Amino acid sequence: MDTVDTLVIGAGVVGLAAARALALDGREVMLLEAADGIGTGTSSRNSEVIHAGIYYPAGSLKAKCCVEGKALLYRYCDERGIAHQRCGKLLVATADDEVAQIDGIIARAAANGVHDLVQLSAAEAKAMEPALSCVAAVHSPSTGIIDSHALMLALQGDLENAGGLVAFNTRVTALSYTCDGTVVRTHDGTELLARRVVNAAGNGAPSLAAKTAGLRAAHVPTQYFAKGNYFTLAGRSPFSRLIYPVPQHAGLGVHLTIDLGGQAKFGPDVEWVSSADDLVVDPRRGDAFYAEVRKYWPVLPDGALQAGYAGIRPKISGPNESAADFVIMGPGVHGIRGLVNLFGIESPGLTSCLAIGAHVAGLLR
Ligand SMILES: Cc1cc2nc3c(=O)[nH]c(=O)nc-3n(C[C@H](O)[C@H](O)[C@H](O)COP(=O)(O)OP(=O)(O)OC[C@H]3O[C@@H](n4cnc5c(N)ncnc54)[C@H](O)[C@@H]3O)c2cc1C
Repeated sequence: MDTVDTLVIGAGVVGLAAARALALDGREVMLLEAADGIGTGTSSRNSEVIHAGIYYPAGSLKAKCCVEGKALLYRYCDERGIAHQRCGKLLVATADDEVAQIDGIIARAAANGVHDLVQLSAAEAKAMEPALSCVAAVHSPSTGIIDSHALMLALQGDLENAGGLVAFNTRVTALSYTCDGTVVRTHDGTELLARRVVNAAGNGAPSLAAKTAGLRAAHVPTQYFAKGNYFTLAGRSPFSRLIYPVPQHAGLGVHLTIDLGGQAKFGPDVEWVSSADDLVVDPRRGDAFYAEVRKYWPVLPDGALQAGYAGIRPKISGPNESAADFVIMGPGVHGIRGLVNLFGIESPGLTSCLAIGAHVAGLLR
């Protein structure tokens, strides 16, 4: 059986960032990816927003990784010429009873180390974004947008320059812990012995963990899938900043994001589904978008929204539970030497990727 120092499973943005960090640490790294390219999963089905770190509970991994990751990501984009834009965002209250929530959001952001939020009156917000309708708003200047595929290509380049390699069309089917390391089996029956293994399989991470002989079931979370559907707007965006309503239960509300080409899209909404492969957008869901969007952009014309794409959030908390934190589970928790499982890496996973990569490398150092 061939041996390798470190195997990372899953070449999404998080697996790539972890593999890069481990390779830069001097490890021999092989990244195994089931698909025929990088970032074909959730990493290319998101809003491409660099989040500021506003919403997450203080002290959570989401808060820590987002705030650290944002700073690392902006620096990395500058160093590597990755297209991005620090466009900022407006978080808007569209009814009087939402204004108190804004105060809480500003306090929570401050607890997370985000001190650049500015509360705005309706008139001040309208001066920044003339098409906007709201009763109050908060400006987040450090929120931005990024070309996530360019980011992933840069991470892959760093990994390969540091001696690592990516094996595509290689699905991992089972793992088993031995006293010499972890045996990793792939779809064609190949077995590799690795001293360190990182399970960064995104929506597939819990099911892969469940196929890890030696890992107790108590250390494998229940997986849920929450689909996020997007609807696109024809023509140029009526806003130059991202527009978010105050957050709702399982997501951030039907918000407007812009891509680097100036195209606007609305979403993602939240649709609980039973499979990570359920990626078709039902055009009828767009009907509910009109009312939500018109709360902050009343002149949205009838028929202006077109079904776009969908991404699946790798949830480890169910529809009626509060959102779970990221879980980066290392040997200190599950007891298997050299194994790190990444669970529930939903938003802000893109923003956090470099911080998560550093955290994983630290756990395996
Ligand atoms: C709708 C939506 C919007 C979002 N918006 C944002 C945002 O604006 N900003 C932000 O910061 N975050 C956002 N996120 C979160 C972000 O997209 C994810 O956290 C991030 O992409 C997760 O990356 P990943 O590498 O963990 O997973 P993935 O990108 O899903 O990668 C996992 C990889 O593992 C591979 N794989 C799976 N099983 C196996 C196996 N058995 N063997 C080998 N390979 C395997 C898959 O093929 C895939 O390539 C959003 C998420 C969603 C769903």
